[in-house]
Amino acid sequence: MAAKLYNIAIVGVGEIARNQHIPAILKNGDFKFCAAVSRHQKADGVPNFISLSDMLESDTNVDAVSLCVPPQVRFDMACEALLAKKHVLLEKPPGISVVEVERLIDLANRQGVSLFATWHSRYAPAVETAKQWLSDKRIKSVKIIWKEDVKHWHPGQKWIWQAGGMGVFDPGINALSILTYIMNVPFHLQKAELKFPQNCETPIAADMAFTGENRLEIEAEFDWRQEGAQQWDIYVQTDAGNIHLVEGGSQMLIDGALHFEAPEAEYPNIYARFSDLLNSNQSDVDIMPLKHVADAFMLGKRTIVEQFHDDRSGH
Ligand code: NAP
Repeated sequence: MAAKLYNIAIVGVGEIARNQHIPAILKNGDFKFCAAVSRHQKADGVPNFISLSDMLESDTNVDAVSLCVPPQVRFDMACEALLAKKHVLLEKPPGISVVEVERLIDLANRQGVSLFATWHSRYAPAVETAKQWLSDKRIKSVKIIWKEDVKHWHPGQKWIWQAGGMGVFDPGINALSILTYIMNVPFHLQKAELKFPQNCETPIAADMAFTGENRLEIEAEFDWRQEGAQQWDIYVQTDAGNIHLVEGGSQMLIDGALHFEAPEAEYPNIYARFSDLLNSNQSDVDIMPLKHVADAFMLGKRTIVEQFHDDRSGH
């Protein structure tokens, strides 16, 4: 039997849609890029719509939508698409609250369509290898250092500084998505400090400390004020050696020696997974990374730091 071809629309033609989603869809033979929805931007070669409602009311044949908009507007769009019985792929983070995402899971189930909350960093080349390697080890401690220059990576994006935009947790949740995937024991947040620029609604830096079974200790440092070399490192100490996930999981070292590396293919792998979910009528939604961020906002100590200015966003 021929594999089903899914007509898929992109909603929110911004950075990630242009750089990753559209190229990954165009290269995946299970999908046909059929439409784009964006208020100010257009995608080439497909019908373009200003709103999701306009597209859903049109005669364009759509099976699935990829929501690449900022998290603050994702819930309403996801509900609208699910109510129209479209399969939905959510960019990370899947929502701005845990309960929002739980409601989407429930709605997708009731509508009989697939919901896929993507965590792109979990598809970084060495992450699966790290998970397998750690599976039979006793993990003693973990140190995460996720430090990047927000002005370089998010020029002009106002939504990251507005409530629900999550600030430094926008990249930090990528580290938490890897951590929650590779760990073989449960853990929870014990304390956190969130640093808010005086003029922003979201933090520019955060320190987190977790505790887990067997005296496990996990520390994470997220900072958006990094100049010079950027750092996306996860160090795991075990009773049988130490691993280092380098550059967001592109390489894995064991005791300092290269153990695994492969070409980056996060978004092609995301769409391969989405196709599998659609073919098997399943959903895949893991809220755990979002729960840790919610815990950080709930129990974290807040400190005010100097104002943040980005000339390109007028912030
Ligand atoms: P972006 O460049 O700001 O693009 C988002 C697009 O959504 C905008 O261009 C905008 O297009 C549309 N949009 C609809 N409603 C909006 C609203 N109320 N405010 C702002 N934009 C609105 O953002 P992005 O970097 O692509 O990020 C989108 C999502 O992908 C985020 O959740 C982010 O965490 C995730 N992500 C981003 C990256 C990355 O490297 N950039 C990587 C992985 C994941 P119109 O104005 O035309 O409607």
